[in-house]
Amino acid sequence: MKEFTYTKTSEVSSAVSDASTDKTAQQGAAIRFIAGGTTLLDLMKLSVETPDRLIDINGVPLNLIETTHGGAIKIGAMVRNSELANHPYVKAHYQVLSEAILSGASTQLRNMATTGGNLLQRTRCVYFRDREFPCNKREPGSGCAAIDGDNRTSAVLGTSDKCIATNPSDMNVALMALEATIHITGKNGDREIPISELYKLPGNTPEVENALQPGDLITHVTAQLLPAGSTSTYLKLRDRASYEFALASAAVITQIQNGKISHARIALGGVGTIPWRSPEAEQVLIGAQASQENFRKAAEAALQNAKPQSHNKFKIELSKRCLTHALKIATTG
Ligand code: SF4
Repeated sequence: MKEFTYTKTSEVSSAVSDASTDKTAQQGAAIRFIAGGTTLLDLMKLSVETPDRLIDINGVPLNLIETTHGGAIKIGAMVRNSELANHPYVKAHYQVLSEAILSGASTQLRNMATTGGNLLQRTRCVYFRDREFPCNKREPGSGCAAIDGDNRTSAVLGTSDKCIATNPSDMNVALMALEATIHITGKNGDREIPISELYKLPGNTPEVENALQPGDLITHVTAQLLPAGSTSTYLKLRDRASYEFALASAAVITQIQNGKISHARIALGGVGTIPWRSPEAEQVLIGAQASQENFRKAAEAALQNAKPQSHNKFKIELSKRCLTHALKIATTG
């Protein structure tokens, strides 16, 4: 493993200022914040991530889950996944988020992984994690071993001829359906962006995964309370029942009034290069009756632009069935 320097900080301002003003960073050296380390340390051991400096932010006080008078939720970036998933208010009002987090990883990993770190979780593409193979995401311009290789778990939505890697997170699929807002502090102050603007499609630059600038620190995430009477769920399909990434998943929020769907938010996991919101499916559902036929129509709309690779055509039908079934669960309570 490459040598690196390690410092700790307990303030947001010093974390951001340290990362933004580090002289070596200005000369192109890589600085990383480390919290739970559940992705970063793995990748450092594989020499896929080779930071010159780690700034430990475990002492930064961003570990609260708060609610506002209007019922919205504010989740500190350092809140551990276990705490978030098992929080009574989250279980009661953001079921989709709790279920998504609990479907991922293991208890031990969820006890370490943080909200901010999970938002920036990197792909599990096997070629990205193995330096023996070309990978445009790890080394821009080197090629993509997955396109002509084993691409069974690769994405079918949002791919490019440079990268077809799937975003592996469950939590972020739920946050996409919840239309969460991401709050960031950077060298120019505080800003917020909708989660739909956080992730970047691979296009010609798969190494650029998100809208963060060097030195930016995610401080917290907010989500509005769902409309009264809404129900939500997260359904995940995978090769084995636990400790596995999704082949297909669906985060679904629905509200039914007068026998028709009045509100629908749909996001898919396991099939997109980013957590995949589907306005096409939502459009089919809103105003329609909650029926198997309409759920299937929504699923067809969600996957209409899917592009399979040589080994993952099955994911398109799997994702459609996953969404159809998730809609049935959400609307029957
Ligand atoms: Fe790298 Fe993306 Fe190709 Fe995987 S799919 S090898 S991450 S460029």
